Amino acid sequence: MNLVLFGPPAAGKGTQAKRLVSERKLVQLSTGDMLRAAKRSGSELGLKVADIMDNGKLVSDEIVIALIEEQLDAQAGAAGFIFDGFPRTVAQAEALDSVLQKRGESVDSVIRLKVDDASILGRIATRFAEQGRKDDNPETFKVRLNAYNTQTAPLLPYYSAQGKLTEVDGMADIETVATSIKEVLDRQASPKGEPKKSFFARLFGR
Ligand code: ADP
Repeated sequence: MNLVLFGPPAAGKGTQAKRLVSERKLVQLSTGDMLRAAKRSGSELGLKVADIMDNGKLVSDEIVIALIEEQLDAQAGAAGFIFDGFPRTVAQAEALDSVLQKRGESVDSVIRLKVDDASILGRIATRFAEQGRKDDNPETFKVRLNAYNTQTAPLLPYYSAQGKLTEVDGMADIETVATSIKEVLDRQASPKGEPKKSFFARLFGR
């Protein structure tokens, strides 16, 4: 099961991904977390991406795709992955399709957390006050929201054309959003909404 959690910054992707990790034994791959860790470690990669991130712009496709491939290899035995904050451009989505295909896998589901701009701005103001993340300051956040609207939102038609996209109300409280996601995943686990077949029906092909 490979799931893409989709939505603007501060939509709650990280929060929901962490819950799914403990409930469904999936591995969370957050490019934002990976890049922040690289920044903190002061590695060559970290130095390269620091300014771009602090200014609210997107890191190059090449860099994030390499990070994702590295993790897919490192955790090859996983039951599945939750992609959080990736893909963020159509080129990244195409690359993800092809790296998964090479491994005999695919993106199974894309869940979009829908949150309106006013709430996003409110959540970011709170996060900035609490955590002081540089790219959460109001000016930089505008740049990030713009990157989302121009570079990331075009992924919606990409996944919707493949019949993989489901929307969930991201404005509800954390528990309610978690329940909505669970319902989507459970529904998709029994294909085409068919009732689960009994053991004997499966055995005899009926
Ligand atoms: P948020 O927590 O607000 O959703 P993230 O933690 O996902 O934001 O990302 C923080 C920053 O890291 C982005 O503004 C961008 O600079 C960089 N980044 C993260 N993921 C990607 C990606 N897939 N492509 C390009 N840049 C990325």
